Amino acid sequence: MISQQLHQALVDCLGPEGVVSERTQLRTYEMDALTGHRQVPGVVVLPESKEQVCAVVRLCRDAGVPIVPRGAGTGLSGGAMPREDGVLIVLSRMRRILAIDPENQRAVVEPGVTNSAISQAVAAHGLYYAPDPSSQMVCSIGGNVAENSGGAHCLKYGFTTHHVLAVEIVLSDGEVVTLGDSVLDPPGYDLRGVFIGSEGTLGIATSITVRLLRVPEAVRTMVADFDTPARAGDAVTAIIEAGIIPAAVEMLDSLAIEACEDATGAGYTRGIGAALVVELDGPEAGIDESLAAVETLCRNSGASKIRLAESDHERALIWKGRKAAFAAMGRLAPNYFVQDGVIPRTQLGRVLERMAELASQAELRVANVFHAGDGNLHPLVLYNGSNPGESERAEKLAADIAELCVEYGGSITGEHGVGVDKACSMPKMFSADDLATMLEVRQAFDPAGLCNPDKVFPTPRLCGEIPGPYRPHPLEEAGLIERM
Ligand SMILES: Cc1cc2nc3c(=O)[nH]c(=O)nc-3n(C[C@H](O)[C@H](O)[C@H](O)COP(=O)(O)OP(=O)(O)OC[C@H]3O[C@@H](n4cnc5c(N)ncnc54)[C@H](O)[C@@H]3O)c2cc1C
Repeated sequence: MISQQLHQALVDCLGPEGVVSERTQLRTYEMDALTGHRQVPGVVVLPESKEQVCAVVRLCRDAGVPIVPRGAGTGLSGGAMPREDGVLIVLSRMRRILAIDPENQRAVVEPGVTNSAISQAVAAHGLYYAPDPSSQMVCSIGGNVAENSGGAHCLKYGFTTHHVLAVEIVLSDGEVVTLGDSVLDPPGYDLRGVFIGSEGTLGIATSITVRLLRVPEAVRTMVADFDTPARAGDAVTAIIEAGIIPAAVEMLDSLAIEACEDATGAGYTRGIGAALVVELDGPEAGIDESLAAVETLCRNSGASKIRLAESDHERALIWKGRKAAFAAMGRLAPNYFVQDGVIPRTQLGRVLERMAELASQAELRVANVFHAGDGNLHPLVLYNGSNPGESERAEKLAADIAELCVEYGGSITGEHGVGVDKACSMPKMFSADDLATMLEVRQAFDPAGLCNPDKVFPTPRLCGEIPGPYRPHPLEEAGLIERM
């Protein structure tokens, strides 16, 4: 709950249309795409300018009230989960493209602009914005910056941090600062780099200067079929070891193929162990030679069939199938957890085998669809939350898979962030000293600790509670208490 006084000040500042306080409307914002974690916010504000963001932040600072930034709410780690005693600052109305500089291949955009809208806005100049999360039609560039988002084409082109030159931010005391510059590699500490991936804990991005790339002259996309994910994994290693860096290498296992085919009819072969989507791009000269080399490497690793996209339409369909994979899981089970771990690429086959063993012990199914070239796994743990005990087993399996990634020299997250979901897993990767040092960085930006508290860092409160899907309290089940 927030005070009547603060509520009135917010309405005075943004007008009634910029403040959401009616309970049923507030519930729209109670979670992001990590749907098991919910909290109705104290109040939601929808600023339309940097000045309004500053004014809201100053009001919150004066009242000592926490703020939580939110873009489009597609985050998968609960980073935008609100607080009951806080103000959720939704940036989706700030969606202007402020400047396009085609000669220098730069654009300046507001944080609510969607990822794909940037590429659409600059397409007439033969340019595009490279990082492409599968949620790119809806997720915001502000959210991408906060999560350092990746995507299928980050294997060749890098992550958000490689494509953002400068970020204007509002600190938790209302001060506006710009981190980075429109030039590459400015002198001094790279505070821009510190901010990217900080998950809303260091301030609110209000404008972002992005690098734009020339649309490649040629693109070739193929799908290779394998009888096991391990063989597909061998092909990935062989391609990279041969010195070929595809624009993207994505893998779908048999369960993921079934779901994607049912949902999109993209033309993947049903009944195989795994499909690799390999995309090459660059100058027309030489691309077909590289493609032939990739084809040979896949066949040498056991590919039973290779299909080359013959048209832009066929290529788009292959990608539609891949990018719809998470949504398609609804065809396999009523519920699923998306796990997001990284492993060294060479361990792919072994980790997938161990994961299958863990899934069988837990008597659950796991579908895999992931950025194979980066070793960035996205196991989708399928379960039915209405079967007693199944959501707990699924949650434990997802946690065991994250630990497996660390055991094999990887990380608890590749691109979806820590948020609330993985805060308790941070000590598995970082020592107490590491975490204390990170907290000092956070405090340098936000001494009062008002900016997205409870995220990223483990706290006794968070870790004492059991994260995951909502479970009714025994007193609630007995009808003695009511969930508001
Ligand atoms: C179907 C699906 C597919 C996905 N595929 C991918 C993928 O391929 N790659 C990938 O990396 N991710 C993927 N994601 C995850 C998600 O889309 C990304 O993390 C995305 O960057 C979140 O953007 P958003 O605007 O929805 O941010 P939100 O969910 O609203 O917020 C995410 C975090 O950013 C902070 N934040 C938001 N805006 C700002 C701002 N202006 N200033 C400061 N902090 C801010 C929030 O506090 C929160 O911590 C996928 C999600 C879904 C649902």
